[in-house]
Amino acid sequence: MEKNLRVKKINRLNENIQYAVLEPKDGKIAPFKPGQYLKLEIPEYEGNPESVIREYSIASSPNNKDELHLILEYIEGGIASNYFKHHMKRGSTLKALYPYGDAYLRKSDRDIIMASIGSGIAPLLSILTFMKEEKMNSRKIYFFHSAYRPKDFILIDEFKSLKRHLSLNLFFSANEAQPEDNWQGLTGFVQEEIKNHFDDLSNYDAYICGSPDMVNDTEKVLKELMIPENKIYYDKV
Ligand SMILES: Cc1cc2nc3c(=O)[nH]c(=O)nc-3n(C[C@H](O)[C@H](O)[C@H](O)COP(=O)(O)OP(=O)(O)OC[C@H]3O[C@@H](n4cnc5c(N)ncnc54)[C@H](O)[C@@H]3O)c2cc1C
Repeated sequence: MEKNLRVKKINRLNENIQYAVLEPKDGKIAPFKPGQYLKLEIPEYEGNPESVIREYSIASSPNNKDELHLILEYIEGGIASNYFKHHMKRGSTLKALYPYGDAYLRKSDRDIIMASIGSGIAPLLSILTFMKEEKMNSRKIYFFHSAYRPKDFILIDEFKSLKRHLSLNLFFSANEAQPEDNWQGLTGFVQEEIKNHFDDLSNYDAYICGSPDMVNDTEKVLKELMIPENKIYYDKV
């Protein structure tokens, strides 16, 4: 479904990541499932003569009928990235098509592995928020996320709050932590940390979101740990 969205709020989460709240200009959001994404038309701007389409996961829950939340990561030199960083303002209008994607929450009793890097946290946040709202607290969830350094972690308070309502175990890993970070936590890539923590995942569902390489590497490890192929959910475009 096509919707015109108005930018309602933009928060900078760190040097490279913005959190944007968008609202439909015509009232309610179109239905979607937690974990799905939309296609945004990025308009022309100075230095970018043609509009382009890019995919963004929806970070908010479908129970929020008034807003769509996005987590926007800046890629140096990227067309959409430059738009978000330098041109998008409160009140800007963007055309969106949605819903898309197969990495949406499935009904099941199986426990869950989640794995993400960077803005890949967005669809998982949507799923977790939805699970909290729907009181789906009987499934154990193991959430693995990695970033370069501790300062790159985002939305930590939101995850701590979700932990109070769900059976949620958080594994944040800083792959390039420096001595001055005083980081005492995990440092491996998500797939390494999953391997360190589990021997057999045959009874789990898995949701992965990150770069194509990260998704491939994580899927390989999950299969080694015996998650059935049809229980591993991700989107690669
Ligand atoms: C299903 C799906 C969901 C997505 N969800 C999100 C999301 O929630 N938040 C978000 O910020 N992005 C998300 N993305 C990525 C997003 O669609 C864009 O690819 C990203 O914003 C870069 O677009 P751009 O126009 O700024 O860069 P482009 O102009 O397309 O690319 C500029 C340069 O950067 C390189 N590049 C592109 N992407 C990356 C990358 N990730 N890492 C390193 N180099 C890169 C390109 O190869 C090119 O050389 C998602 C992608 C998919 C497929």
